[in-house]
Amino acid sequence: MLARAKAAGIGHVVVIGESLAGSERAVALTRGAAGCSATAGVHPHEASSWSDEVRERVRELLGSPEVVAVGETGLDYHYTHSPRETQRRAFEEHLQLGQELGKPVIVHARDADDDMSAMLRALGPRPPVVVLHSFSSGDAVWDAGMAINAYFSFSGMITFKNWPLTGRLAVCPSDRLLVETDAPYLAPVPHRGKRNEPGFVRDVAERAAALRGERFEDLTRRTTENARRCFGARIDSSL
Ligand SMILES: [Zn+2]
Repeated sequence: MLARAKAAGIGHVVVIGESLAGSERAVALTRGAAGCSATAGVHPHEASSWSDEVRERVRELLGSPEVVAVGETGLDYHYTHSPRETQRRAFEEHLQLGQELGKPVIVHARDADDDMSAMLRALGPRPPVVVLHSFSSGDAVWDAGMAINAYFSFSGMITFKNWPLTGRLAVCPSDRLLVETDAPYLAPVPHRGKRNEPGFVRDVAERAAALRGERFEDLTRRTTENARRCFGARIDSSL
């Protein structure tokens, strides 16, 4: 899979942790691996597993050189696999970790616009760097993200027919724009029905460039610069 990513022109892959065990695996996978970094956190679906002990282990993982971000964390009221109150507490503590450790926080938001926008706006004058990943929220979250200078990361959803947020993608400031796969989910056109994988981010970037009326080379230069600014110098290491 990494060889296919490299062949597609991908320089660096960020492997997302979505549970404590998944974060441990992401760190093990990326340890000493050129072109790969990890994140550490607990997805809102798994927020019921969040505890003081888990938080302290995540804090330790965040001290590893291969770990470039906190998360994925956030709020998902679409599935509500964990109670809303539990999701809010876990999200709050992930945001605090990002603030304390100076690491960006990768945020998942689905059908939770009121609470998400309120919690982002409550971050105060020195918010952590926030990545609104696989962005698909409404105006309230967009505005809250703009107010804290968040990054807006667009996924394979932008390649779907009738994707409704082309206007947002078009006006996203070029220094706030990221592209991602959200693998293994949301495989972009023309890979629908397959397991998504890092190399397919090329298709997302091609679509983003078309929707913004930019050249592919210009868009990918900017998104790479933005990833470097967001996640740090480790992004320079290449597959
Ligand atoms: Zn997500």
